[in-house]
Amino acid sequence: MERRNFFKILSTASAGAVATSCGTSTDALIPLLVPEQDLIPGVEYWHPSVCTACPSGCGVLARVMDGERIIERISVERSTAGKTEKLRQRLAAIKKLEGNPLDHVSGGRLCARGQASVQSLYNPDRLRGPMKRSGVRGEATFQPISWKQAIAEASDQLLKIKAEAADRIAIVTGPGANTRTLALRGFAKAIGAPEPVVCSVASWAAERKAAELALNWQGLPFYDVTNARHILSVGADFLGGWISPVHYARQFGAFRQARTEIRGYLAHAESRLSITASAADQWLPLKPGSEAQFLAAVGRILLDLNLAPKASSVPAGVLAAFRGFDLAALIAATGIDERRLRQAVEQLGRSEGPLVLAGASSIHTNSVDAIIASHCVNMMLGNIGAPGGILPPAKAAIEPLTNPRFAEALSQARAIILDEANPLYTAPKSAHIKEALTKAGFVLSFATTLDDSAAWADLILPAHHSLEGELAVAPSTASRVSLAVGGAFVQPLYETQAVPATLAALAAGMNVTFQPATAKEIAEPLLPKDLPWETVVREGGFHADPGLPSVPAPKSKPAAKAVSSPATFSVNPAKFEGDGPFLLQPYLSPQLHDGSLSNLPWLQECPDPASSAVWSLPVEIDPVTAQKLGIASGDNVKLESATGSITVPAYIHPGAVPGVLSMALGGGHQHFGRYASGRGANPLEILALAHEPATGDLATGATRVRLTRIGPGKDLIQYSAEDKEERPHAHR
Ligand code: SF4
Repeated sequence: MERRNFFKILSTASAGAVATSCGTSTDALIPLLVPEQDLIPGVEYWHPSVCTACPSGCGVLARVMDGERIIERISVERSTAGKTEKLRQRLAAIKKLEGNPLDHVSGGRLCARGQASVQSLYNPDRLRGPMKRSGVRGEATFQPISWKQAIAEASDQLLKIKAEAADRIAIVTGPGANTRTLALRGFAKAIGAPEPVVCSVASWAAERKAAELALNWQGLPFYDVTNARHILSVGADFLGGWISPVHYARQFGAFRQARTEIRGYLAHAESRLSITASAADQWLPLKPGSEAQFLAAVGRILLDLNLAPKASSVPAGVLAAFRGFDLAALIAATGIDERRLRQAVEQLGRSEGPLVLAGASSIHTNSVDAIIASHCVNMMLGNIGAPGGILPPAKAAIEPLTNPRFAEALSQARAIILDEANPLYTAPKSAHIKEALTKAGFVLSFATTLDDSAAWADLILPAHHSLEGELAVAPSTASRVSLAVGGAFVQPLYETQAVPATLAALAAGMNVTFQPATAKEIAEPLLPKDLPWETVVREGGFHADPGLPSVPAPKSKPAAKAVSSPATFSVNPAKFEGDGPFLLQPYLSPQLHDGSLSNLPWLQECPDPASSAVWSLPVEIDPVTAQKLGIASGDNVKLESATGSITVPAYIHPGAVPGVLSMALGGGHQHFGRYASGRGANPLEILALAHEPATGDLATGATRVRLTRIGPGKDLIQYSAEDKEERPHAHR
């Protein structure tokens, strides 16, 4: 779409938005979203907003058109009073989401999850209004309650607990940085509660911590993939679920194809044939948890071959540590053939634009060490702060919450507030989240759909969908100060409320002063004088660029307090809990992410890239192991750790690393609407309670399991034709 046409469309859309906000409520049950007379059949309007299906913060455009729905209500006409009647309503409906071409994160693209956000808006299982528990806690029986009564009861409960132990009010949320996060942080401060904690397997705490320890940077580093020539990525599935997949996929496209006579080369080291590994020129199948040893070996070989032009910028103690490592032992630990590894390092070192991109798609007990090692290697290659290298994060327009110790916070809690967090699903059974939810004095949830944890709430005060309210989101990674914004352009479908407004009402009920900041209030101090708020709203956000004055500039060089001692990272092997012969490796599903999107049928129907499974996620088993245990694709198998077991369908993956059982997240919800409840199994459930020590984050890749064939199963439904020839289980 050309910029000029884009603005034309947005001007029209703005007019539509004004009309929307003037709409009158003509129906007693559910108000019309737009007065009928303002809807022009067949005319589309495009409004900017933000995707919140993950914390990346992709700017989107929503296509709004006239639509209709059938509602049922009790008749009040004298002749038919008391009877149920059906009414046809016209309304403004969001038909489609696309990437916002002006947005620097999405650049006009979206992933499947972003596309499916429209389905979460119209999901039939959305809660229609506040709900109060009517049975025993955890039984998931609720009855409707008015907002007035719900706020009064919740305020009362919170006030009582605040008076006795405000420090035991646990606010648990997701890893985003947005208006909602800011409101939760402000509310916690106002009532004297601890700062909210993050409940997610995708908080990227290891990446943040490593950048802080090695480079003195606050936030997630920005990898300039576009301008690199040769990338060695380690443990980061940056084209799959790592940090900002749409943004890095766009950059990867430019890395490969945007330059004449340069085609970027990608070598990828990971213990799974992920999407990134599949797209790489070379895949180095690492042993799980050996990333630190691998990167230490990379640094050592570069030094040995004199391919580290900026070795002098690395602190002497760290260089000495690299030179002192036992190279043979390091290489043996990785499981990679020495000749292959040496070749890969030499190719990297001889490139004119080398970049090492490391992360923790699977979190190990030594992930921070591994990522620090990658920063040290980048230092010796001279690409810290350089084009095509690793750039410092921009000042965050909204500071993210970063404490991932949610299980610890919940174990002490007298009152629990859940927002965009499902700890009962995210934490292993051994974290005893159910016990914490049982013993808390009061549990409050802002869930939009009844999920596993909201089922344990005393009160649910459902939030608006992100497309129904005003929102500002700071992208998870950016090299410039950025904010994506979305205004309210359709009226809420149900009796829900924006979380900041709910928190303000709760604070008022508790006689506490608290006023959440609006998107405008957050953005205006960051805007250059010649960039009015109205333009920001019309374009869907802003991204400072070098041409815009008065925007805080990111640091261009690593701080002086960079790596200062050899002890900054170690090459100790990762720890694994349990005594099974296999390592369990749960990973973020490209479709269902961390399981928070499993209630969307479009995504359940979207084939899994590894197995082409739909509506079910299997465990990936290598062919040698499968043959030894007599397992075929489609069989049901049992995965058993020291803390529990799950039954899942098997998929024999020719690219699976022997001894490693990988499984995407998304299945195994007890409560999550009609499309997800009771479907599949959750590998997180049987994880050992192991943590990455520097961050306290759950180590998702630290569990040993046993694998047993149960027998033929019916749950593996695949899309592909090839597999159909191998075995007659279900196919599309
Ligand atoms: S990466 Fe996908 S899910 Fe995440 S914000 Fe972007 S479009 Fe949404």
